[in-house]
Amino acid sequence: MPEEIISIEHVYFRYPGQDPYVLNDISLSVQKGEWLAIVGHNGSGKSTLAKMLNGLHYPEKGNVTVDQLPLSEETVWEIRKRIGMVFQNPDNQFVGTTVQDDVAFGLENSGVPQEIMAERVKDALERVNMLSFLDQEPHHLSGGQKQRVAVAGIIAIIPKVIILDEATSMLDPKGRQEVLETIRELKDKLGLTVISITHDLEEASRADRMIVLNKGEVFKKGKPIEIFQLEDELVELGLDIPFTIKMTKKLTQLGFNFPNTYITEEELVDALW
Ligand code: ADP
Repeated sequence: MPEEIISIEHVYFRYPGQDPYVLNDISLSVQKGEWLAIVGHNGSGKSTLAKMLNGLHYPEKGNVTVDQLPLSEETVWEIRKRIGMVFQNPDNQFVGTTVQDDVAFGLENSGVPQEIMAERVKDALERVNMLSFLDQEPHHLSGGQKQRVAVAGIIAIIPKVIILDEATSMLDPKGRQEVLETIRELKDKLGLTVISITHDLEEASRADRMIVLNKGEVFKKGKPIEIFQLEDELVELGLDIPFTIKMTKKLTQLGFNFPNTYITEEELVDALW
């Protein structure tokens, strides 16, 4: 029986002094261990929703519940312990002078004893395949490596949910692959719940389920394979269908069999070879 970790029910939100709702009757539910992608064009309300899950905004109407805690000023600190966020710009996320200091920083603030801390830092870096970079200065790393260290900083705190807020949008294709593969492994091996907030349908195609937002409303919910059938509607909403997704769709129609909606360019070449 799937267990619900986040529930958003009929949520309305608008910024102070502004009339139109930026989140307009949003309802969604996230199950423990699933990867949910929230997609939408710029201005559709994705970041506002992410901030609400981190307790930076409260709904004007409706309810948000995280791990059975209803979001309120009393529960917000407990909720923040359960949700780790990785943001867009890898360079803005470093506070330590070495990779291990950086990963340790969040733990220092959470009161974990020193001896447990060193183990947790190593374990987290190993999980994102960055253990050999322990003593390196973060600014020497590539974009993908930086984001993997940022993910390690979150994993070390042992959150229940990790939110990627456009976390791959500044990375080159190689860095993006690295981060998304890492997230997939963390989900599969640790049972981590993942929410990726993105305008990139390629990233979203890795998720178990997608929610498409448009102008603050839920436009569609479904598995990536179902959502990508709506190609023309997605284009109308200003979302670009990546080449690999178009090719996967066409090749599936021609009888090719792929395990996922998403295939990488390399897999595409292999399939055609
Ligand atoms: P997205 O992340 O999908 O690009 P946002 O949540 O950032 O969308 O924005 C949704 C809407 O809210 C947009 O119309 C945007 O202009 C507006 N908005 C975002 N932040 C603020 C703010 N701090 N004050 C007023 N309006 C805002």
